[in-house]
Amino acid sequence: MKAQDISREKSAELFEKAKKYFPGGVNSPVRAFKSVYGTPLFIEKGDKAHLWDADGNEFIDFCCSWGPLILGHNHPAIREAVQAQLGKGLSFGAPTLLENELAELILSNNKYIEKIRFVSSGTEAVMSAIRLARGYTKRDKIVKFEGCYHGHSDSLLVKAGSGLVTFGETSSAGVPKAFADETIVISLNDKKALEQVFVDFKDQIAAVIIEGVPANNGLLIQDKEYIHFLREITKAHGTLLIFDEVITGFRLGFEGAAKYYDIQPDIITYGKIIGGGMPVGAYGASAEIMSNISPDGAVYQAGTLSGNPVAMAAGIAALQVLAQPGFYEKLEKTTQQFVEEIRSFVTEKNYEVKIFTVGSIFWFAFTAQEKIQSAEQIDPASMEKYKVMHRELLNRGIYFGPSGYEVGFISAAHTEEDLNKAVTAIKEALMVTFEG
Ligand SMILES: *Cc1c(COP(=O)(O)O)cnc(C)c1O
Repeated sequence: MKAQDISREKSAELFEKAKKYFPGGVNSPVRAFKSVYGTPLFIEKGDKAHLWDADGNEFIDFCCSWGPLILGHNHPAIREAVQAQLGKGLSFGAPTLLENELAELILSNNKYIEKIRFVSSGTEAVMSAIRLARGYTKRDKIVKFEGCYHGHSDSLLVKAGSGLVTFGETSSAGVPKAFADETIVISLNDKKALEQVFVDFKDQIAAVIIEGVPANNGLLIQDKEYIHFLREITKAHGTLLIFDEVITGFRLGFEGAAKYYDIQPDIITYGKIIGGGMPVGAYGASAEIMSNISPDGAVYQAGTLSGNPVAMAAGIAALQVLAQPGFYEKLEKTTQQFVEEIRSFVTEKNYEVKIFTVGSIFWFAFTAQEKIQSAEQIDPASMEKYKVMHRELLNRGIYFGPSGYEVGFISAAHTEEDLNKAVTAIKEALMVTFEG
């Protein structure tokens, strides 16, 4: 049965105002609810796995700020660390002990990188990693995969059309053609395309970049064998392999997708979880590769607010919890149980929907296909179903990301009660989606 629409009076009012101030009323486009029903909800506060909007509606949150909040909202250890730092100043533009502490916590628990550099966002981390790869290899071209998102820097806002290798079709206005020409886009899970690109652009490719597990355009879980093939072919051609772990880093485990696939990438980028909810990004590599970064080397990269003390304090507090033994095992088990309950329901009902999952990430795909491993396999028409499910979920107090291409996240703050409530709501929402 359809649930009654929640009140969005205050949110709608705030959104009307916001439209006067910001393009589309938002400071990041995905927040605008363009592909789901209604106006965006203006959030007033969050606590544990719960959110409250301006109209006083309460939700169980599965967006988790798009990934960072693996410990949920308002975690006491993070809050206290931030509060303790606030009394000491917000920024110095000089080194602090806190940067050392976060670096040590990461490096001593991650065998895939030897040195790290902190920046302020995932976009900045990836942009810097690309520059490092180009500076290190003295080559210009990079290869990315269709459906992988790596932030909004010029070189990476390029997507593929159809065909084996599509050149320089920009997906954003304002990206110079000359930049786009240096970015080659191929399909995921396609060994032939990968082999061909190294034939066509022999000795020109600085780096191949891939998301640890692609999770920005659905959840496109790659086979381990393919990722190992990617490692081998890049190595054979003197091309660096960049793992963009802005989502998967500290999510699939403390050592992220590198450990999950048992792969040694050349450069790894981080963001989201690493700052415990504050704006932090990072990139890391071997000491040898990192020695190319200024002031040691010729690749320039800087930041006024890099290593910001308040953000570092939040990151340290968050990562200390994540580094505790058993943290990820428990979270994954919880996620598995949650997903299995919904899976058995959709199987019983024979609904055309799959729930893909890795670690504590899940994605609802309205498809009959058993696996979805490349962007082309996603049917855009299936997003209509997501739209209905999203509305029905909001009306039942469940907050999912406002697009069917977005994955959902389970946090350690989701209780059994939260998840049971969510399962019931999801079942009802799916019934409305498929049966009206
Ligand atoms: C979110 C994301 C980015 C961009 O990070 P921002 O902090 O939004 O700039 C880059 N790469 C991946 C894989 C991401 O998920």
